[in-house]
This record gives sequence, C-alpha cells and structure tokens, in this order.
Amino acid sequence: MKIFVCVKQVPESSNVAVDENGVLIRDGVESKMNPYDLYALETALKLKEQLGAEVTVITMGPPQAESVIKEAYMMGVDHGYILSDRKFAGADVLATSYTLSQGIKSIGDPDLIICGKQTTDGDTAQVGPAIAEYLNMPHVAWVTKILEVDNKSITVEMDMADTVEIVKMQYPCLITVEKGIFQPRLPSYRKKLATKDKKVVMKTFTDFFDQQPNRYGLSGSPTQVERIFNPESNGEKVIWEGTGEELSNQMFTKLKELKFI
Ligand SMILES: Cc1cc2nc3c(=O)[nH]c(=O)nc-3n(C[C@H](O)[C@H](O)[C@H](O)COP(=O)(O)OP(=O)(O)OC[C@H]3O[C@@H](n4cnc5c(N)ncnc54)[C@H](O)[C@@H]3O)c2cc1C
Repeated sequence: MKIFVCVKQVPESSNVAVDENGVLIRDGVESKMNPYDLYALETALKLKEQLGAEVTVITMGPPQAESVIKEAYMMGVDHGYILSDRKFAGADVLATSYTLSQGIKSIGDPDLIICGKQTTDGDTAQVGPAIAEYLNMPHVAWVTKILEVDNKSITVEMDMADTVEIVKMQYPCLITVEKGIFQPRLPSYRKKLATKDKKVVMKTFTDFFDQQPNRYGLSGSPTQVERIFNPESNGEKVIWEGTGEELSNQMFTKLKELKFI
C-alpha cells in the first residue's frame, strides 16, 4: 500500500509582510512545518506500522521548504519530494492544488493521500479536497478517527460540527485530518543521524505531464489580493450580572433588539 502525505512549510510567526502582488514575503522569515501536517504524518506512520505501507511525503514550495521533508524523514517516512520551480511561484489555492495533483501524478499512484485539515498561513482548508477533485478520487475532510483500515479500504469518522459522519472509502482516496487524530511523534535522534544524507528529490515543471504554464503559479491563479489587513476588534463589551432567569431575559431582549430573533 502506498500512502502520500502533503506537508507545507509555513511562517513561524503570523507577523509577515506582503509584496505589491499580495504575495507573502517569505525571505528572512523563520519557517516550520504546518502543525496540522504533523497529524497527517503521524496518521500515515501509524498505517505504515499497521499495514506495512510505504510513506511518501511531498511539499510544494521554494527550495528551502525541503527542510520539512527532512523533518519527515526523521519521523520515519520512506521517500520525500519537493515540487519547486519559478513557474509555481505566487500560486493561490487553485494553482497550488493543481501543482500538487500533477506532482503526485508524476511520482506515482498512491492508494491513500493524507493532508492536514488546514494551514496556519493560507488557512483555506481547500487544498486537500481540490487535489482529490483534480485526481478524480473520493475524499473525506476533517477526519477525527480512523475506525477500520486494510489494504483495500478505509473507514473514517468525520466531524461536521453539528453531526458526526462515518464514511467508508475504497482506495484510491484522500483524507484531511484534524488535530488530535493521533499524537505526533517527535523526530528521533537516531533517525536524524540515519537520514542526514538522505536526498529530497526535486520535481520541476518539466517533469509534469501537463505543460500548460497558465495552470501554475501566478498565471494559474484567479485570486486577486486587493488588500490584506488586520480585522478591527469589535468594540462594545457589556458584562451582565444576575440570576439565570434575569440573564436569559436580558439576553432575549437584546437579541430581539438586534433583530436576531
Ligand atoms: C486570497 C489569498 C491570497 C493568497 N496569496 C498568497 C500569496 O500571495 N503568497 C502565498 O505564498 N500564498 C498565498 N496564499 C496562500 C496560498 O494560496 C496557499 O499557500 C495555498 O493555496 C495553500 O492553501 P492553504 O495554505 O490555505 O492550504 P490549506 O487548504 O489550508 O491546507 C490544507 C492541507 O493541504 C496541504 N498543503 C497545502 N499547501 C501545500 C503545499 N504548498 N505543499 C504541500 N501540501 C500543501 C497540507 O496538507 C495542508 O495541511 C493566498 C491565499 C488566499 C486565499
């Protein structure tokens, strides 16, 4: 069984600037692996232990993003790829997902693809489902538990805020995982030594089957960033005191006044 995990390098701090195209300026900003992707990696490693799966990890980003692949090596993954090319720069969600789907196609046919639920910078939670659509495979997002798994199918629990759904999918398929699905292991010092010379394979535009430049990077990105700003905090705060009955009456009156009810 082949499992692919998508991991992204994100800025360490939320205090990052953007250039005139609304593109994040990542140079000189400390980076780390997107926290949700640690859960995706841990899920893959658990399945590797349970089913003898082979785990491949992929990132799309500038060359320095290969550090997240090296971190994944220290956790125990088997293969690592970085998709990097100037043509991929400035990608929005659509172009990022397309690039990842094409990268996956150029590497091989995974049975299961695992993504984090969302990132801490772009934060759209759309990349996983969009990759699945491009690869024409079913997906389940926001997976909180793996209930059953074998070499043919996986049954997962999905947290939909108001409801919990249980879904069984045959491979190939994709899941995005929530924090807490498993406790991520720490990179091991022994594996760090063992993998310090292990290469990260770079795939570029010319390795892809689809060579239409307007599907990638800024030119494949319909999103136009007009302005990025910190939201203003909404000012008015009121503290009410009283019995439960008084407070609920007050709440009812306020909600009516604001025309919520
Ligand atoms: C309006 C807007 C403007 C943007 N402008 C810029 C910009 O100018 N510059 C810029 O750098 N980014 C920009 N972004 C963010 C950029 O689009 C995202 O980096 C990219 O689309 C991934 O989306 P996300 O971070 O929301 O991922 P999510 O959908 O939140 O991520 C879910 C999961 O997908 C996988 N994943 C996501 N990205 C990658 C990746 N690169 N490699 C491997 N796996 C991945 C991971 O498993 C991750 O946990 C912008 C986003 C929006 C919405």
